[in-house]
Amino acid sequence: MTGILLSGPDVTIAERAAVAEAFDSGWIAPLGPAVDAFETAMAARVGRRSAVALASGTSALHLGLLAWGVGPGDVVPTSTMTFAATANAIVYTGATPYFIDSDPETGQMDPGLLEQALCTLEAEGRSVPAVVPVDLLGRCVDYTRIMQIAHAHGARVLADAAESLGASHAGIPAGKHGDAAIFSFNGNKVMTTSGGGMYLTDDESAAARVRHLATQAREPVAHYEHRDIGFNYRLSNLLAAMGLAQLARLDGMLERRRARREAYAALVEDVPGVEVFQRGGDEEDNCWLTALIVDPSVAGLDAGSLSAVLAGAGVESRPLWKPMHLQPVFAAMPHLTNGTSERMFRIGLTLPSGSALTAEECGRVDDVLRRALAIRHAVAPVVGAV
Ligand SMILES: *Cc1c(COP(=O)(O)O)cnc(C)c1O
Repeated sequence: MTGILLSGPDVTIAERAAVAEAFDSGWIAPLGPAVDAFETAMAARVGRRSAVALASGTSALHLGLLAWGVGPGDVVPTSTMTFAATANAIVYTGATPYFIDSDPETGQMDPGLLEQALCTLEAEGRSVPAVVPVDLLGRCVDYTRIMQIAHAHGARVLADAAESLGASHAGIPAGKHGDAAIFSFNGNKVMTTSGGGMYLTDDESAAARVRHLATQAREPVAHYEHRDIGFNYRLSNLLAAMGLAQLARLDGMLERRRARREAYAALVEDVPGVEVFQRGGDEEDNCWLTALIVDPSVAGLDAGSLSAVLAGAGVESRPLWKPMHLQPVFAAMPHLTNGTSERMFRIGLTLPSGSALTAEECGRVDDVLRRALAIRHAVAPVVGAV
């Protein structure tokens, strides 16, 4: 019996053919027509003026901050509940990440806490050129409020939309929010180039700056003149061809993730103490990962024991991101917390959500989960009596 992954790549002969075609066209050396076409198609999809295809979402965050001149001495508020890549990219620039906790209702960066942090930093005379909110698990942050608060304090917004391609907020697609935004095409995201990312903005000079820094900051002269420290961060033409093929299938892939979300929601509907994370108002989410929130005092079981039952049947599950302010490597960094992310980390469990899951695999996951929740019904009274 093979294991069932949280979010494995969803690739078909269409992707294989696209890569082979790019290979046969002779455009192997890094850039080429597929890169241009991928950038154009992605910019059109989310309604941005410029898009720059890069080696990863992490490199897109790094260059997005550098393009705005973020560097040593600056403070950059970001979500504490995120993947380490967000905070790492801030540290690469020499700036200090400032971790903001989640809104208890949505799990996303709490706009009220952001405002409080920005007021404190302003009073201390700190330089805060940018904020990096994270669209957690495929739901957009409240950009209406976050943009207003950040701009009121003179900070630009770089939206970490690595997880939210296909989601929207107030009818506007992820990737279009923020002064600039980034996507990731890592193997576990809603679409993949095996590894890759993109920077998107309506500011053409910032996009040109990112493009320049990503290609070793070579000045446009034959003898390789350099005025800046550059990076080798561009996406290869072969992988961009794969990205185009994935983009053509994106809507179908998103529908299958949504179907998983609906199936899990139906499965736990009548189970006290267990609910789908971010279920309220999730119409605009892309359902990248569906997670359960298990309140042990009501449910009579906890996320860890549920995870153990799933693992015993070869089904992968994982806690939500461990908050950055709890990570040993970021322990010295400033943060403003309200307990929400720590609680989510304790009681949340992400479930297999990928669009490549077969009907047979979905059935297996549902059976195991149903069985695990039934064990819960059997033990709950005993636990209560102890
Ligand atoms: C995946 C991810 C990234 C990093 O993207 P890579 O393409 O893997 O570098 C950044 N931020 C968040 C929130 C992510 O989930």
